[in-house]
Amino acid sequence: MGDRIFIGVAWPYANGSLHLGQIAGAYLPPDIFARYHRMKGNQVLMVSGSDQHGTPITLRAEREGVEPGAIAARYHQEFLESWQKLGISFDLFTSTGTANHTRVVQEVFLTLLEKGYIYKDTASQPFCPHCQRFLTDRYIGGTCPYCRSEKARGDQCDDCGKPLNAIELVDPQCSFCGEAPQFRDSEHFFLKLSAFQDRLLDWVKEKNYWRQNVRNFTIGYLEGGLNDRAITRDIDWGVPLPLPGFEGKRIYVWFEAVIGYLSAAKEWAGSGGDGEKWCDFWQGDETRGYYFIGKDNIIFHTVIWPAMLMGCGNLNLPYDVPANEFLTIEGKKLSTSRNWAVWLPDYLSRYDPDPLRYLLSISMPEASDTDFSWSEFIRRNNDELVATYGNLVHRVLTFTYRKFGGCVPEPGELDDKSKDIIEGAESAIGEVGKLLHECHFKEAIKSAMSLAQEANRYLDMKSPWKVIKDDRQAAATALYVATTVISSLRTVLYPFLPFSSQKLHEYLGFAGGVEDDGWRLRSPVPGQKLLPPEPLFSKLDEGLAEEESNRLRQSSSQ
Ligand SMILES: [Zn+2]
Ligand SMILES: [Zn+2]
Repeated sequence: MGDRIFIGVAWPYANGSLHLGQIAGAYLPPDIFARYHRMKGNQVLMVSGSDQHGTPITLRAEREGVEPGAIAARYHQEFLESWQKLGISFDLFTSTGTANHTRVVQEVFLTLLEKGYIYKDTASQPFCPHCQRFLTDRYIGGTCPYCRSEKARGDQCDDCGKPLNAIELVDPQCSFCGEAPQFRDSEHFFLKLSAFQDRLLDWVKEKNYWRQNVRNFTIGYLEGGLNDRAITRDIDWGVPLPLPGFEGKRIYVWFEAVIGYLSAAKEWAGSGGDGEKWCDFWQGDETRGYYFIGKDNIIFHTVIWPAMLMGCGNLNLPYDVPANEFLTIEGKKLSTSRNWAVWLPDYLSRYDPDPLRYLLSISMPEASDTDFSWSEFIRRNNDELVATYGNLVHRVLTFTYRKFGGCVPEPGELDDKSKDIIEGAESAIGEVGKLLHECHFKEAIKSAMSLAQEANRYLDMKSPWKVIKDDRQAAATALYVATTVISSLRTVLYPFLPFSSQKLHEYLGFAGGVEDDGWRLRSPVPGQKLLPPEPLFSKLDEGLAEEESNRLRQSSSQ
């Protein structure tokens, strides 16, 4: 029995389609990680769900004149289709709209209340006298007191990533009418974050294996001092309080959505027939919890969620929070409101999933922002995926299939070059695995691709297509060696390129799923029957880059 790995993935707001920034930032990395660990034989639980509450959804519902639940249901369905097409392999992708989630949130609330980490107080809440309503998070905008961005909202500043209380905003404005709000007293519950400051700081300082940006940002934030935060609000869409007398209030979305990691684990356990199985992934030293998010979400996962877990007790804190930086689009900051974005359903309606997975892996914004451009997408597809990896596989398999009766040939004695490359195929498994284990995804795929480059050099040197005329045995040996290297590539590239790895698995004549073979080099056996191979990837017309760029520019108001 291997390790147990809990993978929590950011909960997307169900108020719009997914875009490539979210995929590169938070959804592709955990899928790569999960596939690797499953193949390694570890037990993995990867969960997320659509965030059905929060003002992004109510704002959209008000704009469209429909119920918030209708918006949430529409995008939840679209998310499920997107995961399936892109191959994001959640064990459970649920939503915050379930009865189970409400129950778990209310349990956590009552536990923290009982332990004194939640208390009641009057809070000064922004109220718009013109609109006659309380303004929470995105219903109020203003200037960030930390970085002076004018686009801060009542819950956080996206530009510097700091969570905010509405009262901290400089020049606050109602998002509906633009008027300055009044602040009125209202009774609310507060999370006593201040009680956790020292414990959190000690905990984060020990995490020397965390990404530098995540750790430094968290330490800086904690050293600035933690304020208690209101966790309820005057609104009617969200999780109700489990106490009488607060019917007009709901639990604040930032408090409630992070509990989704726990409620989803419980839902997964219940649906599997063993309601207690979630404990395997949440308690004890045998399991590690990883949280994959974008950098705008760091504090919620390195400060607020750990504080809530510390308060509850007997639940594991995050082991790592490998947050990514941002993806820019054709050199400019991605903006959903100005439609400067590449939308995932749109991409998937015209292109295969693996070329996107490849590009976003090899230029993943791990340590700094990276850029997506259509010309880079086409270039990497044609020059690397097709020319380096796809052609290697295709020329080896078609030639072997044609000249050796559709079977893996019997090798003769291996020379040093052949032994070296087989050793390279073997050690790639260990090297790529180590990098994946440490969440260095970009380095991992580069390391895997260097094996493909080496294999191309080996084949050019051995040229079995020429040699076969005079020395059939030498050609057989080279092709046997090449199929072994390809078999290794099938494994090490599987977490990144699951669709093409599965095809390759079948062309090589292996049965079942590529994942079943485990994280090891499985050499094809001489005589093993191959399937008639097809190219793994298709070359894309270079003119598409301009076409796509123009489409992006035309549909954007940027
Ligand atoms: Zn700011
Ligand atoms: Zn107003």
